[in-house]
Amino acid sequence: MSANFVALAYLLAAVLFILALKGLSSPVSAQRGNLFGMIGMAIAVLTTLTITQNVIYIILAIAVGGVIGAVVAKRIEMTAMPELVAAMHSLVGLAAVLIAVSAFYNPVAYGITQPSFFSQAKPTLYLSSRIELFIGAFIGAITFTGSIIAFGKLSGKLGNKSLRFGGQHWVNLLLGVAMIGFGIAFCITPAWTPFLIMLALALLLGVLLIMPIGGADMPVVVSMLNAYSGFAAAGIGFTLNNNMLIIAGALVGSSGTILSYIMCRAMNRSIINVIFGGFGEGVAAEDVGAAVQKTYRSGSAEDAAFLMSNADSVIIVPGYGLAVARAQHAINEMSTLLLAKGVKVRYAIHPVAGRMPGHMNVLLAEAEVPYEQVEEMDEINNEFADTDVVLVIGANDVVNPAAKTDPASPIYGMPILEAHKARTILVVKRSMAAGYAGLDNELFYLDKSMMIFGDAKKVVEDVIKSLQH
Ligand code: NDP
Repeated sequence: MSANFVALAYLLAAVLFILALKGLSSPVSAQRGNLFGMIGMAIAVLTTLTITQNVIYIILAIAVGGVIGAVVAKRIEMTAMPELVAAMHSLVGLAAVLIAVSAFYNPVAYGITQPSFFSQAKPTLYLSSRIELFIGAFIGAITFTGSIIAFGKLSGKLGNKSLRFGGQHWVNLLLGVAMIGFGIAFCITPAWTPFLIMLALALLLGVLLIMPIGGADMPVVVSMLNAYSGFAAAGIGFTLNNNMLIIAGALVGSSGTILSYIMCRAMNRSIINVIFGGFGEGVAAEDVGAAVQKTYRSGSAEDAAFLMSNADSVIIVPGYGLAVARAQHAINEMSTLLLAKGVKVRYAIHPVAGRMPGHMNVLLAEAEVPYEQVEEMDEINNEFADTDVVLVIGANDVVNPAAKTDPASPIYGMPILEAHKARTILVVKRSMAAGYAGLDNELFYLDKSMMIFGDAKKVVEDVIKSLQH
C-alpha cells in the first residue's frame, strides 16, 4: 500500500476516534460514539497489517489475545469492570516497556540509528530516539506496576486502605530525581546500565506512587492510569514511527487527563494531593466513627412503597450496591409505577458513585431509564430540601454528611449528594456496614431516616409487588 494511502487511512481513523470521543461525552450519543471508535480501530488495524512484514505473527498474536479478551469479557461481572480496566492498563504499560527494550536491543531494525561518520563504526542512536525511548520506557514502567497495585486495591486483594511509611514522599522524590538522572545519562551515552537502572527505578516508583492512595481517591487513580497508558502508547508510536499510535495514544492520554481533572474537581481534591498520596490527609479511615452504639430505625419494603406512593417527589440515589445487586431493571420498573401514580421521580448521580467513572449512567442506560429522569449532582443538589422522599439504594460514601461536617474525616471536602436535606430518607442496603472509604455514615442514624435491609434487587421487587396491589 502506498505511503499516501496509509497516511489517508490513518487520518480517517483519527477523525473517527475524535468523533468517538465526542459521541461518548453524552449518554444519548454514546452508542454512535462507540460505533465510530470500532470502525476507526478496524481501519487502523487493517492498514497497519498492510505495512508490516511479519503479518502471520501479528495475526496469531491478535487471535490469541482476542480469544483471551473475549473469554474474560464474557465472564467478567459488571462490578469487576474497574479492576479489569486497571489490569488492561498494566498491559499497555508493559507493551511500552518491552518495545523500548527491544528497540534499544536492535535499533537498526527499528530504523532509529544514524549512519556513523566512519563507515566501520557501529551506528549510533539518534538523540531524539534516545529521548523517546527514555520517556516511553519510564511512563510505561510506572503505568505497568502502578496499574497492578490499582488492580490489587480495586479487587480488594490489597485492601483499599492507604499504605504508607514515614518519609515516603521524600523517598519518592529521591527515586524520581534518580530515575530522571539515569535517563539523562542514557540519553548522553546510550548503554544498558543507565537504561536498566532507570527502568527499575520507574517500576518501583509505580508501586510507591499508588500504594499510599487510599479509599475515596481511587477513582482519580483509575482515570490517571488511563491517561498514563495513553501517553505510554504515544511513546511506543514515536519508537515505532507510527503516526496512528501517536495520535490514538495522545487522544487517550489527553482525555484521561481531562477526566482526572473532572474527577478531582468532583471530589474537591487537588491532583497534586492525589498523585502524591494524600499529603496532609487526616485520620485513617478505620479510626473514624469508631463503634459507638447508635440507634437507627428500620422498616420494610411495604413501608417504602407506602411512603413513596404518597409522595409528590422522589429522588433515587443509586450507588455501588445497585451494581452488585443488578437492580437497575427493577428500579426502572419501580419508578415507572410511581410515575403512573403521579409521583415525580428523578435519579441523582454522583460523579464517583460505583467503582468507575460513569458507572451509574451505564447501569441506568442499560435499563433504559429515560435520560430526562437522570440528573447530575450539580443540577439536583438544590432540590433535595424540597423533596418528600429520597431512596438511597446501595450508596453510602456519596451521601455521607461527614464530608461536609467533619474536618477529621478522610472524605472531608468531597461534594456529596445532599440526601440528608430531604423530608424522609429511605436507605436500602444489606447491613450497617461501611462503604468503600470504610466510614460510618451519620445519615443512617437521623430521625427522618429509615433503613430497609436486604439485597437491593429483592427489596425493589418487593416494593414493586406492594405498589401493584
Ligand atoms: P459505597 O462503596 O460507598 O457503598 C456501597 C454500599 O452498597 C455499601 O455500603 C453496601 O452496604 C451496599 N451494598 C453492597 N451490595 C449490596 C447489595 N447487593 N444490595 C444492597 N446494598 C448493597 O458506594 P458509593 O457508590 O456510595 O460510593 C463509591 C465509593 O467508591 C466512593 O468512596 C468512591 O470514591 C469509591 N470509588 C469509586 C470509583 C469510581 O470511579 N466511581 C473507583 C474506585 C473507588 P452493605 O454491605 O451493608 O449492603
